[in-house]
Amino acid sequence: MGDKIVKTDSEWKKTLTPEQYNVLREEGTERPFTGAYWDNHEKGKYVCAACGLELFVSDTKFDSGTGWPSFYQPIYPENVGETKDNSFGMVRTEVHCPRCGGHLGHVFDDGPKPTGLRYCINSVSIKFVPEKQK
Ligand code: FE
Repeated sequence: MGDKIVKTDSEWKKTLTPEQYNVLREEGTERPFTGAYWDNHEKGKYVCAACGLELFVSDTKFDSGTGWPSFYQPIYPENVGETKDNSFGMVRTEVHCPRCGGHLGHVFDDGPKPTGLRYCINSVSIKFVPEKQK
């Protein structure tokens, strides 16, 4: 994973779009069915939009019907960090990039096999890297 990336808010504001800053640094949520990737079926990897850490692969992406890109497991367990989130009167598990601390979304236990998990991720927080064509 490499060293943690620590930047001030004003430094992040220079490298992120306002939408990325709102979700990644302020734990905002994009409106469902509006992001770039909820309906993306291309093969490839999804990396952190802020720091490029590899987070998910397309093989673990599934159609959750929620309007947010959804995965049943991270590329490596250590590449997605978890924090208990009690905001909005709900008990949820927040997920973030462990390298830069950027907020990605939440993980729920109503996902498909084999893990039964549903990583519900904001498109704004990730960047798709298509598999190289042969
Ligand atoms: Fe990151």
